[in-house]
Amino acid sequence: MGMHPAWIEIDLLQLQRNISIVRNWIGKDTLFCLPVKANAYGHGLCEIGKYAEKQGVDYLAVAHLEEGISLRNAGVHIPILIFGAIHEDQIGELINYNFEFTISSRWKGELVSRICRTKKAPIHIEIDTGHRRTGVRASNGRALFLYLQSLDCFNIIGIYSHLATADQPNNSFAHKQIETFISLIEDPIFKEKKLISHLANSGGTLHYPASHLDMVRPGLLTFGYNSAHLPVQPCFSLKAKVAYFKVVEEGEGISYGHTFTTRSTTRIVTLPIGYGDGYLRRLSNRGSVLIRGKRFPIVGMICMDQLMVDIGNNEVFVGEEAVLIGKQGDEEISVEEISLLCDTLPYEILCLLNSRLPRIYLS
Ligand SMILES: *Cc1c(COP(=O)(O)O)cnc(C)c1O
Repeated sequence: MGMHPAWIEIDLLQLQRNISIVRNWIGKDTLFCLPVKANAYGHGLCEIGKYAEKQGVDYLAVAHLEEGISLRNAGVHIPILIFGAIHEDQIGELINYNFEFTISSRWKGELVSRICRTKKAPIHIEIDTGHRRTGVRASNGRALFLYLQSLDCFNIIGIYSHLATADQPNNSFAHKQIETFISLIEDPIFKEKKLISHLANSGGTLHYPASHLDMVRPGLLTFGYNSAHLPVQPCFSLKAKVAYFKVVEEGEGISYGHTFTTRSTTRIVTLPIGYGDGYLRRLSNRGSVLIRGKRFPIVGMICMDQLMVDIGNNEVFVGEEAVLIGKQGDEEISVEEISLLCDTLPYEILCLLNSRLPRIYLS
């Protein structure tokens, strides 16, 4: 089978550099947990998980049980932490696969205790210090810990919380969350147990050294985005091969609804990628692509499987490579640029690019 004509390229050497930059930044005494949820932010769950393990990352984290199972089946050995709230019918598998999972209520603790007989379940307790998503209120953290210990079915490994506003440096609410969390874990009851305490996402890792504690969990940063003062770089490119070429006369409408009309005779090339791949339709008449190192506009509505590009008087042949995200020559289209055009964040642009696009790993 030939290669699909639109694809994602992951530069593993750049990822390796990013991992070592983050590692140096946090210091050797801090554990490095790489979140690889949502297909490793679109980079490919299992490939990235295995590579991160090889590069000495200490922990992986995912949102859901199935993501963890995929990693284990791919041969990942390092600890895998599941962030999401667990469901009753998953408990057997959570324990059998030896995942570290999150408990943040008595109710979930009790559900697990009904099932775990032979093996203690390794867990992290999640504390809500202000993100208001999941986690037990900080004021109830101690009581939950004592309760879970009393059930004699848990190996309590860690305690963590999540920051709501750490993407901005010197944000007062982030400082407050850090303070709340630190004053909780300083309780001798936690200290004694030598729990792994962790709080920092990318923003915390970058801007709040006080949040590093025993382990950090920077996802987006490690993939090379929102890097502020760290020299990490994206390792992700999106490419397609020109599938078709035509000359279009002045005054002709392009694609569904004719939302674009040519102003002069021009050359239009078609790329075999569309919103069916997760390349957002919002980029119609806004986005651009690079061909031969030059930037050209996407014209007309992006279709499910194809989109059209106006190359003016330039020459381009069918089969040539177009870059939709990444560098070509001296030009670059960044994920940040696209996310601004779509009024969203790099996270969403990356995760939406789906499995119809093969991931190619360069090393
Ligand atoms: C997704 C997630 C992270 C990583 O967030 P980034 O902003 O990508 O660094 C860390 N911790 C938790 C609990 C998460 O859900």
